[in-house]
Amino acid sequence: MPGRPARRQSVRPALMSTRSHERLEELIAADAIGGLDDAERRAMLAEMAEHGPDCAECATLTAEYGEVAARLATALDPMPMSASAEERLLAAARATGFDASTPLSSGFR
Ligand SMILES: [Zn+2]
Repeated sequence: MPGRPARRQSVRPALMSTRSHERLEELIAADAIGGLDDAERRAMLAEMAEHGPDCAECATLTAEYGEVAARLATALDPMPMSASAEERLLAAARATGFDASTPLSSGFR
């Protein structure tokens, strides 16, 4: 029987590594701390959609930054604003012409 030449499997470049996550990482990091505006958020989602729902690197970045943000939040939250800090804030707000008649403590965040 004539032996067919074994076809060498062509080595395809790994597509994963050609996807750029540099810009995306910035967006994901900013999003984790709520720092994205609508346009940036849409850009992030569009970028992730291009990678597909099962891009492992996207998932890792999202999980990692989500975790960091959560840790930051718990580290910062239990500190109630001290009276003097609020006083300084109000003073700074007045200096910039901010209407300080509305209490800063409510609706902050
Ligand atoms: Zn990705």
